[in-house]
Order: sequence, then C-alpha cells, then structure tokens
Amino acid sequence: MTQPSSPASPAPSAESATWVALAGNPNSGKTTIFNALTGLRQKVGNYPGVTVEKKVGSLPAGSDGRTDGSGIAGDIRILDLPGTYSLSVRSPDEAIARDVLLGRIAGTPAPGMIVCVVDAGNLERNLYLASQLFDLRRPTVLVLNMMDLASTSGIEIDVPRLQEALGVLVVPTVGNKGIGLDALTKTIRRNPHAPSERQWKMSDDLEAAVAELGSWFQEFRRMDAPAAFSEAMLHIGGDEAVMMRDEEARAIVRGLVAKLDAQGSDWRSEMVEARYAWIHRVIGYAVRRTSSPQRQFSDRLDEVLTHRIWGWAAFIAVMAMMFFTIFTVASYPMDMIDSSFTVLSDGVRNALPPGDLRDLLTDGVISGVGSVVIFLPQILILFFFIGLLEDTGYMPRAAFIIDRMMSRVGLHGKSFIPLLSSFACAIPGIMATRTIESRKDRLVTMLVAPLMSCSARLPVYAVMIAALMPASGGASWMRAGIMLAMYFLGMIAAFAMAWFFKKTLLKGETPVLIMELPPYRRPSMRAILLQMWERSSLFLQRAGTVILGLSILIWALMTYPKTDGASPDMALNHSIAGRIGHVIEPVIEPLGFDWRIGIGLVTSFAAREVFVSTMGIIFNVENADETSESLLDAFRNARWPDGTQLFSPLACVSVMVFYVLAMQCLSTVAVMRRETNGWKWPLFQVAYMTILAYAGSLAVYQGGKLLGWG
Ligand code: GDP
Ligand code: MG
Repeated sequence: MTQPSSPASPAPSAESATWVALAGNPNSGKTTIFNALTGLRQKVGNYPGVTVEKKVGSLPAGSDGRTDGSGIAGDIRILDLPGTYSLSVRSPDEAIARDVLLGRIAGTPAPGMIVCVVDAGNLERNLYLASQLFDLRRPTVLVLNMMDLASTSGIEIDVPRLQEALGVLVVPTVGNKGIGLDALTKTIRRNPHAPSERQWKMSDDLEAAVAELGSWFQEFRRMDAPAAFSEAMLHIGGDEAVMMRDEEARAIVRGLVAKLDAQGSDWRSEMVEARYAWIHRVIGYAVRRTSSPQRQFSDRLDEVLTHRIWGWAAFIAVMAMMFFTIFTVASYPMDMIDSSFTVLSDGVRNALPPGDLRDLLTDGVISGVGSVVIFLPQILILFFFIGLLEDTGYMPRAAFIIDRMMSRVGLHGKSFIPLLSSFACAIPGIMATRTIESRKDRLVTMLVAPLMSCSARLPVYAVMIAALMPASGGASWMRAGIMLAMYFLGMIAAFAMAWFFKKTLLKGETPVLIMELPPYRRPSMRAILLQMWERSSLFLQRAGTVILGLSILIWALMTYPKTDGASPDMALNHSIAGRIGHVIEPVIEPLGFDWRIGIGLVTSFAAREVFVSTMGIIFNVENADETSESLLDAFRNARWPDGTQLFSPLACVSVMVFYVLAMQCLSTVAVMRRETNGWKWPLFQVAYMTILAYAGSLAVYQGGKLLGWG
C-alpha cells in the first residue's frame, strides 16, 4: 500500500474537510449506510432550483479513530448523493451528483472527502464511477457493500490486494445488517489519503487533448489539477449537457474534438475503454470467482450466447423457434375458437328473423370480433416466449448482441428494451423510452418504435400467409419463415430510419452503453403466466371495445345506403365504404390493391387488426377468419375486372409489407402526442411511415412484376 502522501490537490480548507459525500451507483446501498452512520442526525432539503432531495446528516461526535493527530475530531457532515453510474450522464438526479462532486454548485462546497459505496457483487460496473471519483484525488474511502451477496454468488474479494491496486482504503460492509459500519466510521475519522497516480492511459493524441484543455482550466478557470483533469475528460468525452455553461471552454472543446475526429481514431469509446481495461486488471489481481455453480454455468453459456457469430445464430434460432411454435401449436386452439364462433353465428342466424339486426350481429359483430379473437392463441404464445426470455435473463444478452448493431446506427443499447417491448405493442415501448436521458435519442427511439412488428400485425400477417399458401401446400416452417421475414423487415426498417434520423433531423452523440449481464435464472412460471394474462387481457379488451365498435361501424358503412334487389357485390359497390374504396383505388392500384383492399386500409387506420375483420365482412362470408376455408376460397376467387387474380402471391406480400411499415394505430398517435407534448412529432411520424409503407409496397409489387413474379 502507498503511504498517505500529500494529496496532489491543495489541502482542503478547514471548512470543506468536514464535508463527506456519499456517492455510488443506484442501489449500491448508499442510503442504508447513510442512515446507519447518521442515525437521526439528518436533515432533508432541496438543491437550489431543482426538486432533487438533498439529504445531509452528521457523524456522531467523539468516536474518532485518530491515533496520531492526523484525523478529524470535530463535526463531520455527510451528504447522501443521488445514485449514478458515471459522471457523464444527464438525467437531473445524476447531474446533481456530478455537480456536487465537481464543486460546480454555488453554496455547496466541494466535498473534502468522498465515500464511494460499491456493490461488491458488481464490481466491474461499480468501479467505473469509482475511477472517475479517484480522478478527483480527494481523500477517498471505498465501501465494499453487499459482501454477503457477493460471497453467495461466488465472488471472493481479497481486500488488502484491492486496497493495494486502487490506492485507497477499502472497508467491506453488509449495510443492512450493520456489519463493518464501525470500521467505516473510524476510517472516515482517520481521514484517508487519496490515490497517488492515475493508473490508466489513453492514446497519445487523446492524452494530449485532455492535457491541453486541463491546463487551460487550471490557468484560466483557477481549478486545481485533478478538478481540471476531470472537467477536461467530461468536456471532451461528454456532450453539451455535461459541460459547464462556459462558452469560451466550449469553443476550445469544439476545436479539440474536431482535431481528434480528423485524427480518425475511435477516441470516444477509447475514453471509456481505457478505464475498463484498468478495472479489469484490478479485478484480475484482487478478485477470484470461486465455484459458484450458477456463475460458472452462466459464464459458460455466455461464451456462446454473446459470441460475435454464435450469439447471432442463437438469437435468430430463438426467434425462428418462437414463430414456428406460433404456427404449429396455435392452430389447434385456433380451430376450436373458429368453430365456436361458427356455432354462435349459426345460432343467432336460426334464432332471429332475417333482417338488418340479424346481419349486423352475424356479419358485423360476431364475424368482426371473431376474426380478431381467433389470434389469441398466437398472441399468448408470443407473450409466453417474451416472458420466458425476460425471466431467464436472456433479454440483456439479446440487448448486448443488438447493441453492436444499434451503435452502428447511432443508438444506445438502452433503446433496445423499448424497441423490444414494441414487439408486443408500441405503446409500452414508447413509454419505456423515458429511461433514455438524451432527448434526441429518445425521440429517435419513439419515432421508430412502431416499425417493430406489434401483436396487432400478427392477424394481418397470418391471414395473408394463409392466402398466400393454402393449408394443403407449404410446410409450417415456410409460414414461420415468411413471418420471421416480416419481423426482420420491421427491425431493419426501424434501424435504417433510426440511422437516417440520427444523421439528419436529430444529430447528436450517443454515450457508450454500460450494461451488466445478470446470471441466468430458472424462470418462474407464475411470473410468466401472470404477464401473459395481463397482456392478453389487454388484447381481449381491445377486441371487446375498439374492434367491436369499429366492426359495427364498418358493417354499417358497407351496408348503407341499400340498393334493393342488387347482388351483394353491387350493393357493396354502392355503399359508403365501397365509394370510398373506389375513390382511393387509383392511388393504391400500383401497389396491387383494389378498392376492396382499399376499404381495409382505410378502416385499419384506427387499428391494424381491423383489416382482417373488414376483409371478412367484405368478402361476405359468414364467420370470416383465417382458418375458415370459405374466406380463403373467396380470396382465391377474388379477381380484378380483367380476370387476373387479386390476391396473387405478390399482392399478398405487398399487403404485408405495407402493414409492416405503415402507422395504423390511433392509440400510438395519442401516446406520442402525450409523450412529446404536441402534435408535431405524431403527425410527422404518421406522414413518414405512410410514405415508407407506400414506397415499400410499390417497390415490392412493381419490382416483383418486372421480375415476372406477379
Ligand atoms: P441506494 O440506492 O444506493 O441508496 O441503496 P439503498 O440503501 O436504498 O439499498 C438498496 C437495497 O439494498 C435496500 O433494500 C437495502 O436494504 C439493501 N442493502 C443495502 N446494503 C445491503 C447489503 O450489504 N446486503 C444486502 N443483502 N442488501 C443490502
Ligand atoms: Mg438512495
């Protein structure tokens, strides 16, 4: 261990020496330790101008551990800072922690001592913040909290070795049981020394840039060397939000950044990786993973599942299996739901006299709702898989794999979870973007989230795949393959648009993802079933409200005004819906859609799955749904006026592509309006997705015809 040398920073004043800041990652146990150290000697207030809680307490007097007169005998005040993963983040709470530590807040003196609380079970991630704190070169104590959890998960930390590697005093604790806290109080009173030298290095170009800005801060902003270094790191590596409001400094930063960019190295990730390289050396020296079977198993599994190539292969295999199951297993309950709706419809038909009411119930209500409810089994299976992947711990691995791709389009792995939730429904997906600190990144994520194939698209894909591939021909793996392709198309479109928005409309830097992979767990069936239930009841609610209402409306639009004595075909032609369809037909004909499909496009603007029920009503078959042969027969027999097939394979693909890309969901528009506080972004989103869908379908249909597939 290094000896308490004179710290590189000027000796803290008598005033600031008694300020101790308690810093650490969220959930590392700071508040627990703060409460234990200060007991009832606490005061809660606010930081000036913001609503972030400021908790200050004091250490009991008298119990000082000084033996040689170098310690602190008097009052020691402790500040419980908001949790943060690093100093270069931007959410309001975390900004407070940074500003306090760097002494940027007027009226709150920079802490004379830092107590850094780390979760011993997650050292790698926690030491990242610690290394930034060490740069400040204040007297520092590292609290190794949660030692109990670390040892049960097989992590053995050699405390003397860790002290030696880090150059600060290390106190192991179990905060919630009060273990190690006396030792901590004594260590604080003994006034520990600071780490002597920075032990990690970046490339020469980068070091030079940081040093240049650092000396400018020292000379012109009167900072001490460590503070100047820390500010220089933050100003060069971070974005506007983490900088000081200092135009002169910002101008210098812009110059340095331009120079670094011109030098062409990947210096932004280097700033992060240099710290991690050091952290890995420290951990390699002081930490041993003993044979916790859980950890070993996880690690071995991760060698495959996060591998550059095998990881992708596994990811695609998992997705493929999910869709295969959706098609094979679900068909049995779907047949049962189908036949029960047929029985219901026949019952109503026999019980009521012919007339509008009977038609409304059978053709409108039962066939409309039935054609959507029939997809409940597929949706349950989808949610079962999503729940299983979340509960086993696979999801963060998927995020890790995807992050490499995301960073290429300029997004953060943090955007992955919202995008993944959007597979179920874009609404929870858009709400989940609230964890993204950067406003621009958040907007980009919200803008592309509805491109991920949500469960409301499942019915459309399924019915089109059935039309494309009659039950007799085509194996289930081919159906699953087509559906998988649609899901991938949505993902690719989302990434491509994200890249485009980040390059044009919403330019900005994205911070590097700090993520840890929790060990794999045995999934809890109870939790998964609970989630399936919650999500599918939402789906059923929609069927019972939105879809029901729309089905009645659509039935009416297709029935009135009545043309007495005309054939059903002629009647539909003259109905309101029919007229609307004819009006838009010239616009959609190049996509391979006739006026009847046009009606479906219009009605499903409110909700995508309405397309299926509309088709059911239009093709005027009782109890229309995807498995009823009669609807498929009607599809197969549908013709353009010139006698060519309407639902040719190419047209079916064109319909699916349109539904992959189009924004047809009023609820999503409403949520976007609420989350962005205005109509600008939701309207922009509807516009760009409609254009994208039109262009996509046009390319597929016309391109396909050129190649002779149509
Ligand atoms: P903060 O976010 O850093 O303020 O963390 P908290 O003090 O709120 O602690 C988070 C949770 O961890 C609480 O439920 C504590 O009871 C628990 N906790 C704190 N220290 C320990 C510890 O050493 N071992 C265990 N097992 N739990 C702890
Ligand atoms: Mg707390």
